[in-house]
Parts: sequence; structure tokens; C-alpha cells
Amino acid sequence: MKLTNFRSQEGMIYTISEDGVRHLARRLGEKYDVYGPVNTHDDAVFSKFQFKKIEPSDKIELHYPLTNLPPTKYFFRARETVLEFKGSKETGSDDKKTKSVIFGLSLFDLKAMNKLDKVFGEPIQDELFKKNRDNAYLISISEDYDPKPELGYDLHFRKSGENSYLVWVGSKNGQKIVDANSSLFTKTKNVKKKYKPSKKHSHSDRAKIIARAKNDPIWDKLAETCFGCGICSYVCPMCYCFETQDVVKVEGITKCEGCRERHWDSCMNADFAAISSHDFRDKLRDRIYNWYHHKFVRMPEEYGFSGCVGCKRCITYCPAKINFRETLDFLEAKYGVKK
Ligand code: SF4
Ligand code: SF4
Repeated sequence: MKLTNFRSQEGMIYTISEDGVRHLARRLGEKYDVYGPVNTHDDAVFSKFQFKKIEPSDKIELHYPLTNLPPTKYFFRARETVLEFKGSKETGSDDKKTKSVIFGLSLFDLKAMNKLDKVFGEPIQDELFKKNRDNAYLISISEDYDPKPELGYDLHFRKSGENSYLVWVGSKNGQKIVDANSSLFTKTKNVKKKYKPSKKHSHSDRAKIIARAKNDPIWDKLAETCFGCGICSYVCPMCYCFETQDVVKVEGITKCEGCRERHWDSCMNADFAAISSHDFRDKLRDRIYNWYHHKFVRMPEEYGFSGCVGCKRCITYCPAKINFRETLDFLEAKYGVKK
């Protein structure tokens, strides 16, 4: 999927009030399935905030710390049917047609969406991902000190003052949304930059360090605390490993006559690398190393970016309180990168 910069009409930027943002979400909900962050008030270990389909009674959250699952999971779903078959004949697959709007993505999750577009788009387009993606509009939201995202959004709202937002249009679909709801938007110009651009670190330095650290005892140390539960992958907007299974009809259990399903997997899981007669990564320390190697060595080599957008979900939800940042800091100090 190719992403290009889109200039809104005459390079126009808009403003919208906070009430206007909520009103827009309600209006879009009359036409599309709108998914957004809500406070579920769960007394749970995990975050109270989560993305869900917005019902008229729901109050969409415009300022939220972190949702437990990222909205990228609407595009790469926990379980999906790749194809259905009867006997030796293919009969169809999942066919979702309803247009949806993902409303209120954070900058982290928007960045992850842009990266996943590339991962699922190259070198071969993943059709399931594309079908979900083509059916969705992305509306991102950020605080006033955040930089404006470069691309990948249909509309982007950035907080500006007590009860208002600046609005950037990122696509023709975004412009259509503005035009169809023009009473909510006011044209504006000359937006001053408030933020400082963030410092970029070098992927190649980090990649070299992780490659060098393959035999470091830190992986054994981490394996002593890690449960190998895979939660760090399931909550990560950038993890996309899956497993496929052929399922045949079992009365009362399976829905399809016969189908091929794919579901999330994690490279941390015990049997992740098991093949018919051998498990080539049966040690947890090797699977932990692979997690870092894939995100920080192989992905930069393959795509030119790392497999992390810095959302901190893996740190927040790890039951063993493992913080990958601490591991990277330790390795950077040990293997020679100056701060
Ligand atoms: S969430 Fe924590 S304990 Fe579970 S596999 Fe990941 S690092 Fe290990
Ligand atoms: S911080 Fe953790 S969960 Fe977030 S993108 Fe990076 S690896 Fe994934």
C-alpha cells in the first residue's frame, strides 16, 4: 500500500471544538462502524481504556494514556478465516463490507499503522490485511506538544487550546468527511510550530549491538524471569506473527464446513519454531533474543525501520516486569554505543 502526502484544499488547516470532535464521531457512527477509545471502568489489571465499537451511549475518550490492545489489531485480527472449503472446492472467505472509522489513534498507533502497511504490502500484498485496511478511515489525535504526523491519516486532530483542535486533512476521504460536516470545521492558517523535533537514533548502531550480543548472558538472565507467555507480542502494535490451521467441521464446535484460519502467534511461545521433527528455537533465551533481533536487526534491514514505535505496552503489561528498554540500555553501554 503506497502512502502519499495529500494537500487539503488550498493547503487549508481547520479548527474544531472538543464538542465538535465528539459530534463528528456520533455523525460518522450513523454511517460507519466507528471504533474509538473508551474508559471501560474495568477494575482490571490491564488498562481501563480500550478501543471498541462506539455505541450512542459511549463517551469517546480524547485524552487517554494507553489502551491495552492497539487499534492495529482491527486490521490484523486475532482470528480470521483465510478461505473456506467443501470437499476439495474452495467456497469463499471472510467478506466484511462495512466501512469503518478508527477514531482517536495515538501517534504511536498511527506510526505503527504506517509501518504495518509496508510490512503487509511488500513484497506480496496480504489480501486479508488489505481488505480490512481499504475499508477503514483513520482519524488520529494528539496533544498540543506533539509533532504533526507526516502521513497515513485521513484526518489528524491536534489539541490547540482549552477546548479546541487543529485539523489536518491527509487524504481525499478526509476532505470528504470535512466537506460533509463543514458546519463543525472552521478554516485557519499560519499554524506555529510548538514542538521540538525528536532526536533520531541510528538503527544500524543498535542492529550491530544486538548482533554482537548474541551470546551475552543477559538472554539467560531474562529467561529466568520471563514466562514465555507472549503477552508482549499480543499487545504490541508492531508484532504480526501468525499461525494458520485447517479446520474441519465438528458439530457444535466449528462454524464452517471446512476452513483455513489464521490466528496470532508469538515468537515467545514454546512451540513457535517447532516443525515436524525438530524445534529449532526450543530454548527460551533464544526466543527472547529472536524477539529483539527481529525488531531491531531484521526489520531495519528489510524495511528500513525498527519493529517498535515506543508505545511501552510490552513494558506495561509484562507479568514479569521485563523492560526491553533496560535491556537495550545495558547492551548499548556494554557493547560500545556512547549516550
Ligand atoms: S510479556 Fe514478559 S513474561 Fe511474557 S513473554 Fe513477554 S517478556 Fe516474557
Ligand atoms: S514499546 Fe513494546 S509494545 Fe510498543 S511497539 Fe515497541 S516493542 Fe511493541
